[in-house]
Amino acid sequence: MLTIETIEKLKTALKPLKMQGKSIGFVPTMGFLHQGHLSLIEQSIADNPITVVSIFVNPAQFQPNMDLDRYPRDLARDTALLEKAGVDFLFFPDVTEIYPENYQTWVEVYQLTDLLDGASRAGYFKGICTIVLKLFNIVQPDKTYFGQKDIQQARVIQKMIADLHLDIDLKILPIIRENDGLAMSSRNSYLNEKDRKIAPLLYKALCEAEKRFEQGEHRANKLIQIVHSILSQESAFIIDYIDIVDANTLQRVEQVTNTAYLALAVDLHGTRLIDNTQYL
Ligand code: AMP
Repeated sequence: MLTIETIEKLKTALKPLKMQGKSIGFVPTMGFLHQGHLSLIEQSIADNPITVVSIFVNPAQFQPNMDLDRYPRDLARDTALLEKAGVDFLFFPDVTEIYPENYQTWVEVYQLTDLLDGASRAGYFKGICTIVLKLFNIVQPDKTYFGQKDIQQARVIQKMIADLHLDIDLKILPIIRENDGLAMSSRNSYLNEKDRKIAPLLYKALCEAEKRFEQGEHRANKLIQIVHSILSQESAFIIDYIDIVDANTLQRVEQVTNTAYLALAVDLHGTRLIDNTQYL
């Protein structure tokens, strides 16, 4: 695996491979890799002769009071995992090249960002769309892989690809979980032992709602209530949102009649945790 830190060098390295018609798979990440990231990477390697992974902790998607400075980083460990997985290129750009002084251009997707993380984190998707479009322009991948863990992000990027006529195929892959159901996340490393034991309640609540759905409860507010009442048993959770949204529009539904997501976000002693399950 080649680790490349500048845009110019990555473009130079990829150019001959593109000329040979080799399909390029791309997995953008913020590093501190876990099995969730690796599942995307493994799919890319299975689908494409060349896989590029980027690690970039994107300052533009962190609100001023968020965890940009403490976001976990371990390049040596990540590099070893990527090598072992069989990745061809690690792109690890410097923030000063991505956002030079006097940087002025931003990309926004509108309706899909109305709710969920878009509603509670000002500027979050503007930061994400901008960095992902920049990375797409640099790497020029044929295929890209995103996790259902961040379902709104995946849908927003899909929309950006369609609206801006990018020729990139985006695949959304399932959420990888710990044995106790907690969705894997780089941020789980913030949890102390006690909070780590509390956190799987999120998935338990989602499963309980899913069970009730399968038993015939299709009213969104009832399903949300089930999740809410389970999470309320644990006073350490500060609930940011629990919503059921249509899979295409990401707008609220009253009845779950088409594919939808029950998505939630909580704060657990300063750690933001998100999760979701798909219906139908
Ligand atoms: P991040 O490094 O958190 O920005 O995530 C990079 C990519 O990995 C995104 O497409 C995420 O949705 C995906 N991802 C993160 N956690 C998981 C998980 N537990 N299962 C599947 N994909 C994940």
